[in-house]
Amino acid sequence: MADNTKKTGYSVTTYKIRFYTNQTEYLKLTQEIYNEIIEAYYNLLFRYTELLALSTQKCLRELEKLTIIGITGEKPAEYFEQNAPTELRRAAINQAIGLVKSYFELLKMSEENEKFQSPNKATSFHCSLILYKGMYKNVESNGSVRIKLFDGKKWRWFDAKFKNWNFPEEAQILSPTLVIHKDYVMAHIPVRRKIEDVTPIKERMKHEEVRVCGIAFSNTDKVATCVVINKTGEVVKTLFISGGNEYKSLITKLFNKQKKNILENKKLQEIKQNHKTYREKANRIINHYAHVMSRQIVDFCIENKVEVIVTALATKDKAYYYTKSSKSRPIYLREKITEFIIYKAYREGILSTTVLRKDKASKCYKCSGAIKSRKLKTYCENGHQLDYYFNYAINVALEILKKYENKA
Ligand SMILES: [Zn+2]
Repeated sequence: MADNTKKTGYSVTTYKIRFYTNQTEYLKLTQEIYNEIIEAYYNLLFRYTELLALSTQKCLRELEKLTIIGITGEKPAEYFEQNAPTELRRAAINQAIGLVKSYFELLKMSEENEKFQSPNKATSFHCSLILYKGMYKNVESNGSVRIKLFDGKKWRWFDAKFKNWNFPEEAQILSPTLVIHKDYVMAHIPVRRKIEDVTPIKERMKHEEVRVCGIAFSNTDKVATCVVINKTGEVVKTLFISGGNEYKSLITKLFNKQKKNILENKKLQEIKQNHKTYREKANRIINHYAHVMSRQIVDFCIENKVEVIVTALATKDKAYYYTKSSKSRPIYLREKITEFIIYKAYREGILSTTVLRKDKASKCYKCSGAIKSRKLKTYCENGHQLDYYFNYAINVALEILKKYENKA
């Protein structure tokens, strides 16, 4: 992977801004039609589950072949009448595919583990309207836009407006979602920007407004402590992610079952097979928790306008559990969370980096004095009372400030 070519990438950030339209009734009507189409394809897909093995795009095409009159003019097997523009239908089909796919993912999880409830098939649909290109046009620099709505008789273009529209021209607007609230409408607009990799973190650290989030992981119930600081090192916001105990008990249960099986089962081949099943089950649990927790952390960083996420390089922590009874090898939840944070944050335009772990947890962030006690109350040799993981996380974040301060 290491070569001299400049790496480019994209980041997608979703902005939530007010949306003005005089046609809220038509918007509601359009959303109803949208949901009717979702419902139709949702139910259809349960009769053609083999299509789920395809990519979303191919699945969409097959569903259209099944339901839409093609060039031959013949009605296909599952034809039904639809009064909607192609782009509205496609957004609805994609939504339906997503819903059915996640239904089966959840079903699989619940079959593997009683902890997860088996999902219910949806019976009513209340999805917010996603506008594909063709449903909106003429986005102007002042935020004005035209959208296509159904007025009860036909589809027509209407003027509308995004409030506080302030997107750079080089940014690419992806399909906005219109979320209808009781008294107002919000537009959720994903904006894609090209990221040029010109040592980006270094550049970001020059911003006066830069915010850094330091993360400290632990093997307690408090899995992660996230502290956002600004350029002067002041704490902006803190987030504690808990759930370590719940995770731990699930894995321990699984592990004990596996151990019992090994004790009862002396055939090597069967033990191996058993181990494989165990790993798969364990991975599913790890992935679930890592996804949920990394999502919480990344959302928190977006909310607090973080530009750089910092974690300490992993050292040999005590792990929660082990994969084998004879040779103990830890499975780190922390590693998975970090992995997921990196790519989820990147997609939102936030970059991640690491610092050495040395001293981060053992020195007071206020005075650099040694941490004296970790029990009940943590304090340093100069008497500062601290939360152990908060202190750890803020030291991690401060390290990156120091690093770029010296180079400025
Ligand atoms: Zn101190």
